[in-house]
Amino acid sequence: MKSLLITGGGRGIGAATARLAARRGYAVCINYRSRQGEASNLVREIEGAGGRATAIQADISVDADVTRLFEACDQELGPMAGLVNNAGVLETQMRVEAMATDRLQRVFATNVFGAFACAREAVLRMSTKRGGAGGSIVNVSSVASRLGSAGEYVDYAASKAALDTFTLGLAREVAEEGIRVNAVRPGFIYTEMHASGGEPGRVDRVKEFVPMKRGGTAEEVAEAILWLLSDAASFTTGTFLDVAGGR
Ligand code: NAP
Repeated sequence: MKSLLITGGGRGIGAATARLAARRGYAVCINYRSRQGEASNLVREIEGAGGRATAIQADISVDADVTRLFEACDQELGPMAGLVNNAGVLETQMRVEAMATDRLQRVFATNVFGAFACAREAVLRMSTKRGGAGGSIVNVSSVASRLGSAGEYVDYAASKAALDTFTLGLAREVAEEGIRVNAVRPGFIYTEMHASGGEPGRVDRVKEFVPMKRGGTAEEVAEAILWLLSDAASFTTGTFLDVAGGR
């Protein structure tokens, strides 16, 4: 059984990815930061359906937590075949001139530095140059990286642009070592993330700007992630799959 680590896997897009991955035969390591109840319930749900999963607390913006997270996954599920860098944060909508540096540090600490740290641990385990069996990394970016999120969260959009460039660079760096690195860029998806930005009903307000005239679901994003992870995408690396209804 291949094992897969999903950061921020207890709810939202991460949880939909964990459910689908378990159905496709992966043993799933579900990382969460604080919402233990949701992560534990998801493990029970996956096990109840005959799958294999474990939930591990770690704040991916803290380097020591990332090291501990990967060691715990190794012990509980065995050699890692995939990583989904899904955990991400945004903060209350505001213009750039109102943004304090500590906010930028929090957003980049999870969205960029956390993703780097997790990818580092994954490469250390999966690279064929280091005795690993290869694998696949999928970064969960956002169409915000190419649209900029003016008036809402330019800091978040810039962190996702950093994640895009990271995807390109790492993909080329490890291409000969059996590791593929790609990203999905979701558009407006119905999850709790918009409440963190101060507007729980945001998707319904902005869906008119989507060519398909609707928001997306976490399950629709999970399908794209699972394809990029799978051997069906074996010649695909350093690329981006937008899941945004044409936006
Ligand atoms: P969500 O419902 O707010 O869930 C965020 C998840 O990230 C939670 O599981 C949370 O853990 C986890 N998390 C946050 N900071 C963390 C940290 N430092 N360490 C570990 N886990 C952390 O968000 P979502 O909408 O599913 O977003 C998932 C990804 O999709 C994010 O990267 C987001 O930027 C991206 N995305 C979302 C949308 C959208 O419209 N929803 C659009 C484009 C991109 P806890 O449950 O423990 O709090």
